[in-house]
Amino acid sequence: MTDSIFPKIPDECDVCVIGGGPTGSSAANMLASRGYHVVLLDKAVHPRNTVGESLVPHFWRYADKLGATKAILDEGFVAKSGGLSFWGNELRRLRFRDFGHERPALHVERDIFDNILLCRARTAGAQVFQGVQVTTVDNLERPVTTVHYKDPDGQPGSLRTRYVVDASGQAAVVASQLKVRVFDEGLRFSAFWGYYRKSRYLTFDGHLHNDEDKFKHPPATLMSTIGDWGWAWHIVLRNSVSVGVLVPKARLAELRGKTREEREERFRRHVSNIPLTGRLLDEDDFIPGSLLSIRDYAYKPTTLTAGNCYLAGDAAAFVDPINSIGVVFGMFSGSIAAHAISRSLETPSEAQLNRELYSSQYGNRVALFRLLALPDGHAHLSREDVDRAKEAIGSSSDAELQLMALQASNNCREGVLHEIFDGLGISKRPKIENLDWEALTLPL
Ligand SMILES: Cc1cc2nc3c(=O)[nH]c(=O)nc-3n(C[C@H](O)[C@H](O)[C@H](O)COP(=O)(O)OP(=O)(O)OC[C@H]3O[C@@H](n4cnc5c(N)ncnc54)[C@H](O)[C@@H]3O)c2cc1C
Repeated sequence: MTDSIFPKIPDECDVCVIGGGPTGSSAANMLASRGYHVVLLDKAVHPRNTVGESLVPHFWRYADKLGATKAILDEGFVAKSGGLSFWGNELRRLRFRDFGHERPALHVERDIFDNILLCRARTAGAQVFQGVQVTTVDNLERPVTTVHYKDPDGQPGSLRTRYVVDASGQAAVVASQLKVRVFDEGLRFSAFWGYYRKSRYLTFDGHLHNDEDKFKHPPATLMSTIGDWGWAWHIVLRNSVSVGVLVPKARLAELRGKTREEREERFRRHVSNIPLTGRLLDEDDFIPGSLLSIRDYAYKPTTLTAGNCYLAGDAAAFVDPINSIGVVFGMFSGSIAAHAISRSLETPSEAQLNRELYSSQYGNRVALFRLLALPDGHAHLSREDVDRAKEAIGSSSDAELQLMALQASNNCREGVLHEIFDGLGISKRPKIENLDWEALTLPL
């Protein structure tokens, strides 16, 4: 047997966090800051690539709490001027500043952004081990739970802990083990995305710019409709442009191919035909080898806690990313899971109450944002889904409700939300602004 240079993972801790994305880093940071012994295990070695580069400005609230604001500002990510939606031949806009957000939303390279959060968790006192894959979790209903893992040398090991936060993203380690993940029939789609070296882009006011202007004239995130209800994103980053398409299951064949070259060729062709987006990009700027995809991946949880384990971020639920809230949801759920666990460690007799509070706070938000993402109104919505969404609406500020309503209208998904607003007596509607896109001088 050879000696490993890998630092020894402790045999026990107060809280074991599985995964070091935004969710796991937020939970680990907050718990370690409160003095708990936290061990975070991540299968990957950061910085690791991941998709989801458009952030809504709500993330600053969590960045402040996690002590990550300065590092994020120092990085100099691309600020965004707002969101543009091109649906049904209409170009509509949204600006976060109009809803009380003073700091800008950002377009971030996620490997770098996520690594900043992970470093902050370590600075706060969490012990972070990378290249460590959690395999199973035992005894979730007992006072001490065992987390089994494989270390970077492939050697099995285990760790005893009082609480677990499953923040393993779409791998959903605990939810998969317990079989509590239900794929969402209302959102059966696949996503394909790739990167272009550069692109023309639009700002919030609908002006067209060249790539080199992006720090002087902040770009908007552009969403365009494709076919029946698929959609595409266009996100200008510092050294590339992220372009992705979400296609319903029935249209998957259009993007499939036997070889990498064939798949990339189909993707580039598909993108060049997307209204407006296609006209911003030159096919030759596509970066070979950058195409990635994920199939049929939206899911709902049947539970958000399992004994001593809190499921958070993507490990709990995932809806269509149309509202760009995945990272903020991760930071939110990681933070409230940390709060619930810390209260339960202080007062063990309140553990069940804290689980229930977490489940309703997070579950209601998931239900609301699922409702805002569903492309076909009432289909796939149960009475319970609507009641949960109503609860989340009841605890949202007026400005946030107006922002949600505008986002939903711009994305043509406002029907059910308006009905709920009417039922709750919320009469104010945000002003929809259409831009004259035909006046833009774009290459054909
Ligand atoms: C196509 C697409 C587009 C998106 N667009 C956006 C967007 O524009 N804006 C936005 O905010 N969000 C977007 N999202 C969602 C966003 O990327 C996620 O919601 C976010 O990354 C969730 O963070 P997380 O920490 O829960 O999971 P992740 O970021 O996935 O992190 C999970 C971590 O767990 C680790 N892990 C996995 N398995 C194990 C294991 N067995 N043991 C140990 N560690 C493990 C992984 O290595 C990883 O580091 C998008 C998602 C998709 C799929």
